[in-house]
Amino acid sequence: MLSEKLVEAMSKQINEEMFSSNLYLAMAIDCETRGLSGFASWLKVQSREEMDHAYTFIDYVLKRGSKPIVMPIAEVKTSFGEPLELFEEVLKHEQYITKSIDELVDVASKERDKATQDFLWGFVREQVEEESNVSAILDRIKLAGKQNIVFVDHELSTREQ
Ligand code: MG
Repeated sequence: MLSEKLVEAMSKQINEEMFSSNLYLAMAIDCETRGLSGFASWLKVQSREEMDHAYTFIDYVLKRGSKPIVMPIAEVKTSFGEPLELFEEVLKHEQYITKSIDELVDVASKERDKATQDFLWGFVREQVEEESNVSAILDRIKLAGKQNIVFVDHELSTREQ
């Protein structure tokens, strides 16, 4: 079983992943209403991926014989800025999640739980990918400028998972 401290910390992370899912879903909806269906499509895939992360954490805690807690999710905004501003917000959020995962590794380490540290390394690596992907999109948005944003929108429409 996981220590009480770890169950609490893992449950908090489950909540963060669910919040991320809702945040990206709200961003997707906002983009869709502005005709940015490619951005919307990318963000919807991202939203599903975050919910998958939550489930991965839940399944792991259960597998260790402990009971994760599903906590209330904080409200998300309903309107966002232009794609540049919006993706800067995505990057900032992913950097926040990276910090949150790092702190979770520290808790697992203090609790001397090797299996949980091993589980978390996957997410440490995942965050490197997340930040890198979002940074690359930000570069494309900057390159295109407002005039050519529709081309980036089209590029992002092809993301499948
Ligand atoms: Mg995530």
